[in-house]
Amino acid sequence: MSDAPIRIAVAGMGKIAHDQHLPAIAGDPGFTLAATVSRSDARVAGVPHYRSLQALLDDDGVAVDAVALCTPPQVRYDFAAMALARGRHVFLEKPPGATLAEVAALERHAADAGVTLFASWHSRFAAGVEPARAWLADRRIDRVSVVWREDVRVWHPGQAWIWEPGGLGVFDPGINALSIATRILPRPFFLQSATMAMPANRAAPIAADLHFRDTAGAPIEMDLDWRQTGPQSWDIIVETDAGTCRLSGGGATLTVPGGTERGEDREYAGLYARFGALVRAGASDVDTSPLRLVADAFLRARREIVEPFEDQSR
Ligand code: NAP
Repeated sequence: MSDAPIRIAVAGMGKIAHDQHLPAIAGDPGFTLAATVSRSDARVAGVPHYRSLQALLDDDGVAVDAVALCTPPQVRYDFAAMALARGRHVFLEKPPGATLAEVAALERHAADAGVTLFASWHSRFAAGVEPARAWLADRRIDRVSVVWREDVRVWHPGQAWIWEPGGLGVFDPGINALSIATRILPRPFFLQSATMAMPANRAAPIAADLHFRDTAGAPIEMDLDWRQTGPQSWDIIVETDAGTCRLSGGGATLTVPGGTERGEDREYAGLYARFGALVRAGASDVDTSPLRLVADAFLRARREIVEPFEDQSR
């Protein structure tokens, strides 16, 4: 592939497309925004706009090399399969799909088409994650605690899809924690038991309590809750033979014995740099390990029905 900027279309013009994808594309000389796709008129001035991905791909008048899919996971497979079949590289928002099997099918489609498929995990690009991984690499892991507690009304106002089957409920943010944990911990881990709190009027959990164990027997406890008001928590605490490693602020701040480091937020800049490198190398990156752990929770957890959730922001 040439060194010309990758001409990318953004499909699904919701919160993450506006908050992160458009600014990251604008800030990366390796990309140029070639088109937007939305069922509405949510567009960018001066950029070709289409009401469907099919309409974009059918238009020979606009050249697009890649598509960033920012829709909810339940509808992502059809968009991705269509783009891959038409020879476009695909950037999948997290989670990469609604099921593991559909993501495996997409990997096959990408390989058959000879294009790049990137299953993005933005939290892995938080500033403290790679330093934490390096610090933990040679340590004995004794215990891990993951606390991801946030107010769903603040972070997901009016997002009906998130409560539907495949929307993941509290695992929508929880999978970000798992994407970090699967990156920084030196050994694989798996679920032993879990409880999910299901609002009586919803199809997805509002809270979950999960007990994992790594392959050396270290316990990994995870506390997810969307009913948090006041201070929010996005913390991973790893107790080791050399002291405690604490990643807080969703991976932004790392504290280890000897000091605290807080880096600037470059998660989406990092994702686009990675996607560009993959496209130029003719490679794909599809790590489903965070989604596999969530799928296991849905397989293995005990369900408890809790009070209905009404989204008062709507
Ligand atoms: P959102 O605000 O609800 O936006 C999703 C957009 O997808 C909608 O605005 C809509 O765009 C499109 N869409 C919705 N239903 C669709 C359907 N049935 N068919 C086709 N398009 C549909 O959600 P979001 O917060 O941006 O989240 C989207 C994805 O990004 C999720 O997987 C989420 O986990 C991930 N993400 C979100 C955040 C965040 O902070 N919000 C952070 C990181 C990752 P149009 O109306 O333009 O078609």
